[in-house]
Amino acid sequence: MSSLLGHSFIGFVRGQSTAAPYRAINPATAAALEPDFFPATAAEADHACALAAQATPALTALSGMKKAAFLRDIATRIEAATPALVARATQETGLPEARCQGEIGRTMGQLRLFADLVEKGDWLDARIETANPDRKPLPKPDHRSLLRPIGPVAVFCASNFPFAYSVAGGDTASAFAAGCPVIVMAHHAHVGTAEIMGGLIVEAVKASGLPEGTFSLLMGEGRVIGQQVAKHPALRAIGFTGSRVGGRALMDTAASRSTPIPVYAEMSSVNPVVLLEGALAARGEAIATGLLGSCTLGVGQFCTQPGLIILTRSAAAEAFVAKLSALFTECADGVMLTAGIHQAYQKGLTARAAQAGVKVIAQGKSSGQPNRAVATLFATDAKTFIADGSLQEEIFGPSSLVIWCADAREVDAVLGALHGNLTATVHGTDAELAQQSAQIARLEAVAGRVVVNGFPTGVEVSHAIVHGGPYPSLSDGRTTSVGSNAIYRFTRLVCLQNYPDSALPAELQNANPLCLSRLVNGSRSESAL
Ligand code: NAP
Repeated sequence: MSSLLGHSFIGFVRGQSTAAPYRAINPATAAALEPDFFPATAAEADHACALAAQATPALTALSGMKKAAFLRDIATRIEAATPALVARATQETGLPEARCQGEIGRTMGQLRLFADLVEKGDWLDARIETANPDRKPLPKPDHRSLLRPIGPVAVFCASNFPFAYSVAGGDTASAFAAGCPVIVMAHHAHVGTAEIMGGLIVEAVKASGLPEGTFSLLMGEGRVIGQQVAKHPALRAIGFTGSRVGGRALMDTAASRSTPIPVYAEMSSVNPVVLLEGALAARGEAIATGLLGSCTLGVGQFCTQPGLIILTRSAAAEAFVAKLSALFTECADGVMLTAGIHQAYQKGLTARAAQAGVKVIAQGKSSGQPNRAVATLFATDAKTFIADGSLQEEIFGPSSLVIWCADAREVDAVLGALHGNLTATVHGTDAELAQQSAQIARLEAVAGRVVVNGFPTGVEVSHAIVHGGPYPSLSDGRTTSVGSNAIYRFTRLVCLQNYPDSALPAELQNANPLCLSRLVNGSRSESAL
């Protein structure tokens, strides 16, 4: 595509490097795509961080209205550029056009959701404790607190979401909404899409009159340039979506800095699904069809893909597994996002098939085309699963593991052994769900979202969604990487003591000029003081 230059955006200036060019690869054909892309140099990455530091005070002072207008402007520009974005992303990722269109819609929706949130300042959690000079034995000071932006944020794009978790995705949108400058590491799998999106954001930064360092986009290897940014003294937080190895490496880098910083890494999740006997007897075939769809959606390349299926032996369960196996066998293969992800999938399948006590019980059709994943269903028993922690490792792609339990006690033991996950699902009749409330509570302990009689794929972007869970699904299981609550990752609390009213930010002034809902001396109030 002739309009792509292949260079980073260092604020408003394009990168100059011409060394070590690389190209995006079309995974469907294994063909390299034009043009060449050039990794940012170490000096360029440093300059992006320095610009971000310079931009921080102006962005911290930016009003909610101005942040909202900026976020909406990015969304409008994305809308206008949708044909170009789709054309490039379908080539770079092998994802169908409809999926790219849908994901662009979600990306614009996320930007607009954060715009709506920050336009008014209620989310800032403004609190006021008024002074009492007569209090004994000590006078009470005037304390006023609110959330402030954390400072420059580095965002690592996800291979499996070229839009919603990439350059203008949820991490970037929530960081901008919080008032933070953002430095994005483009993912090599969709670097041309990243360049188009980066250009749109730079234009929006300029049109909104924001400082140059509000946004930079760096080409190059995350392991090299990304690590350099992660160590830069100006950086204050990291957002990441990808492998556990990559996320863990960034967590370790962030922790070993002389000033450690938080890392919000969304890594791996196997999303257990518990199937109770009554539900299988009542609607086993429908559950099998729904589960197959959830396991193979997007060639299984979703962080919410159900990788574990837990059930107790019964006639209904046997019939269900036979049906699910038949559906897996009929499944056509699908192109994966990158050759590397395909190789990792193949390696994962081979290793799992060789594990003692694990069997392949169904495998889909293979076309023999490059980078195609064949859906694969494994089975094991509860004892093997509990004894072997590696069976909880994500095989990223359309593969699931059936875990046979002898009875409800074994189901409990399996649930007790689970690592952290983004989601956990249970299918049961009303009576079973009422009877198994302790089991459902166990699911809540290991997952950020518990789904009843549904399927985990398809993440709604909303105020109530939680897309996070205990480690290793997230590096910090107290947070979410999707939905409006994601903004809190990029904030910190500040308390202002004994400030004169005129020196306070509008959110904390006595007159309450923004008409916020504030906690005043312990009671919620929308009034002036
Ligand atoms: P990845 O290898 O973790 O890479 C994601 C991003 O992080 C890339 O920009 C990468 O840069 C960077 N990165 C990787 N290791 C790093 C390190 N040590 N230090 C700094 N940056 C680092 O993930 P991927 O390329 O998307 O896919 C590989 C595997 O990740 C998949 O096979 C799958 O197992 C897993 N994955 C899981 C999810 C999920 O949602 N659960 C999503 C995507 C991928 P460079 O590669 O350019 O160095």
